[in-house]
Order: sequence, then C-alpha cells, then structure tokens
Amino acid sequence: MAETQGKVITCKAAVAWGPKEPLVIQEICVDPPQKMEVRLKILYSSICHTDLGFWNGTNEAERAFPRILGHEAVGIVESVGEGVKDVKEGDYVIPTFNGECGECRVCTKEESNLCEKYQVDPMKRVMVNDGGTRFSTTTTKDGGSSQSQRIYHFLNTSTFTEYTVLDSACVVKINHNAPLKQMSLLSCGVSTGVGAAWNSAKVKEGTTTAVFGLGSVGLAVAEGARARGASRIIGVDANASKFEKSKLMGVTDFVNPKDLTKPVHQMIREITGGGVDYSFECTGNVDVLREAFLSTHAGWGSTVLVGIYPTPRTLPLHPMELFEGRKIAGSVFGGFKPKSQLPNFAQQCMEGVVKLDPFITNELPFEKINDAFQLLRDGKSLRCILQIAKFLKR
Ligand code: NAD
Ligand code: ZN
Ligand code: ZN
Repeated sequence: MAETQGKVITCKAAVAWGPKEPLVIQEICVDPPQKMEVRLKILYSSICHTDLGFWNGTNEAERAFPRILGHEAVGIVESVGEGVKDVKEGDYVIPTFNGECGECRVCTKEESNLCEKYQVDPMKRVMVNDGGTRFSTTTTKDGGSSQSQRIYHFLNTSTFTEYTVLDSACVVKINHNAPLKQMSLLSCGVSTGVGAAWNSAKVKEGTTTAVFGLGSVGLAVAEGARARGASRIIGVDANASKFEKSKLMGVTDFVNPKDLTKPVHQMIREITGGGVDYSFECTGNVDVLREAFLSTHAGWGSTVLVGIYPTPRTLPLHPMELFEGRKIAGSVFGGFKPKSQLPNFAQQCMEGVVKLDPFITNELPFEKINDAFQLLRDGKSLRCILQIAKFLKR
C-alpha cells in the first residue's frame, strides 16, 4: 500500500492564475481520493488546443482561476477511494475528459459516448461527490505566504500536476507494457481524431475525405481515414509547414486557403468532381466549418465537427442548405466510450494499425511548460510531451 494513501500529498503543479498569464509551477496540496475517485501520479502530459482555449479564457465559461489545466496524459494509480474496483494502486492508466459510468441510460446504449453523469462539461470545475476541489494552494502565485485557496479542476482531468484526483469513471486502465508517452496521446487528440473518422463518420474504403486543420486532431482524422482505406485525403491548413508531416498520415492533397483566389469548398468540389464524401472541421473556426460543410458532395456528404468554438456565433448555415442532402454532426472524444472501447483501441495502436510516433514532435521537462504552450500557439508542434513526475523504470 502506498505510504501516501489517505494523506494529503504536497507536490508540484503548473497553476493557471488568469487568462494568458504564464502558468506558475508551484507547490500545491492534493487531497486523498473520496468515494469512487482515484488519485494518479501523472507521468507524461501533452498539450491540446483545448488547453490553449481555456488558458486564453475568451468566454465566461472558460474563466475559472486559479485552475490546473491539462487533459492529455498517462499516469499511474497512487491510491483509490472507497468503492473503486476496476483499477488499483500501481495500474497504468489514461485519464479521459469524457467519462463512462457504465450504468446510465447513455452508457447502457451503443449509440452515444456522452455519459449522463461524467460527459465532458466545460463549465464543471469541482468534483461531483461534494462540489469541492481536491487541490489547494500552499503559497501565492509569487511564492509568498497566504491562506490556502482552492484550485479548480478542468475537464474531469487536470493533468499539469504531479498528482491529480479524478472520478474513477474518467480513468482507463491500459496494458502494463504499453509505451507510455505514446499512450498519453490516446487521452485526447489521437482518439478524438481517429474516432471521428471511424466512429462518427464511419469512413469507408475508397472514399474521399477533406480534413480542415492539420494539428494533431486533424492529422489523427487523416490517419484514421488512411487506416480505413480512404483513397484521397485532402488536407486544408493556413500553415504550409503542416503539409510535409501530414504525408505520413496519408494526406494526398494540400490546400492552403491563403494561396486561393476562390473559396476552399469551390476548389475541393472542382478537384473531386462535386465534393468529398466526408469532411472534418478541426480548427475551431466557424467560417472554416461552413467551408467544410460545403466541400462535401450534395446528396450524401457528411461533415463531422470536431473543433471547439469559443465564439458566441451560431452555425453559419441556412436551413434550406440542408435540403441539398449534406449531413453535419459533432463528435466528442471521437465517439469512443472510454472504458469499454479505449483498451482495444490502445491495443490496435500497439499493433501499428494507427501510427502514434509521428504525433510526438517535441519533448520538454515539466518546468518548460510555458515554452510548450508557445510551440503550440506558434503552430510549431503537434504534441509536445512533458515529463511530469519522476518515476521508477518498469
Ligand atoms: P492545433 O492548434 O494543433 O491545430 C489546429 C490547426 O488548424 C493548425 O494547424 C492551424 O494552422 C489550423 N488552422 C487554424 N485556423 C485555420 C484556418 N482559419 N484555416 C485553415 N487552418 C486553420 O489544435 P489541435 O490540438 O489539433 O485541436 C484542434 C481542434 O480540436 C481545437 O479546436 C480543439 O479545441 C478541438 N478538440 C476537440 C475535441 C473534441 O472532442 N471534439 C477534442 C480535442 C480537441
Ligand atoms: Zn484535447
Ligand atoms: Zn454513464
């Protein structure tokens, strides 16, 4: 049994104190897990655009400070709370921002992965059990002394800390021999993208696809479409430096909207004889969403919306445009039910069905987390893996 079990742990975390303020690496206290909660030691975490979005704090829903961001990680179970049966101390696990209780009306149906109790909720910042937080400060952001202050949770996970507490519904056990850095990618970006292609669009062999936004999420869509045998994958990005890497994920054609004198959808319709079978919006820009929608073939085209949209603007479509037979739907966590489907997906990745290594473009120590944020903001990284807590080699 861990000697820390049942005790408060003091450890290092990167705390967000305000919109766009550099994260502060400081000492915090992490309470023991309560009923049906799990405390993890975070080994590796990477940064997803959604972390950037909440750090920017563009809208009210995103602003809750001080807060520990981070949701793409891999960790080891330090201790479990009362009633937790499916993971135990020492298990390697992936935290998931979209949980699965296994019992609600949604979890007991195949159709959706949006668990009634633990589905991703951008407004949620405290634990379900008691409405409290398991994190608190020991110092001010400048290292001065102050009364302890609570630190908010983020997306059911909060992984920019050496220790975190999650609901057990948001913890997925993985194979003890799984490559840990690579597995952290399944915690969000790669599962979201590959799942959008496999589970949401159900991409078929020989079909055509357009992916808007070639960050990790969009490239994971491309990788998923490639693995399903798509014959043509058109990558659209305003940053031309993304094109070279995307060839590894099966992208066959590249479109930079900045180089065009006509709308992207017009170009795509021209080169595909009417439009693609599937399009995916992975930038979080509503104007791009409209282009993605219009890029598919009338009659059967299907658009999957993956980006997160901080703007209050609504869908830029006229209802009559839906009579042209194009479909549109959103996809959260790639439609994967985390506990019941992720272990099998992780196994498929280990067998090489989906390649994970190309997504890791940078590695930095935890202390350099602000540099890692900057790399993603500048479009210079796909995923930068941060080593969070030191651990003994397996
Ligand atoms: P990223 O920043 O790495 O990639 C975004 C890409 O979009 C970049 O390559 C950028 O150059 C490109 N881009 C931005 N604006 C563009 C424009 N106007 N035209 C063309 N290209 C443009 O981000 P990521 O981590 O890959 O995440 C992508 C999106 O997916 C984000 O909005 C993120 O919040 C969202 N997301 C959604 C889910 C989900 O479950 N639905 C999960 C994870 C991430
Ligand atoms: Zn994410
Ligand atoms: Zn449920």
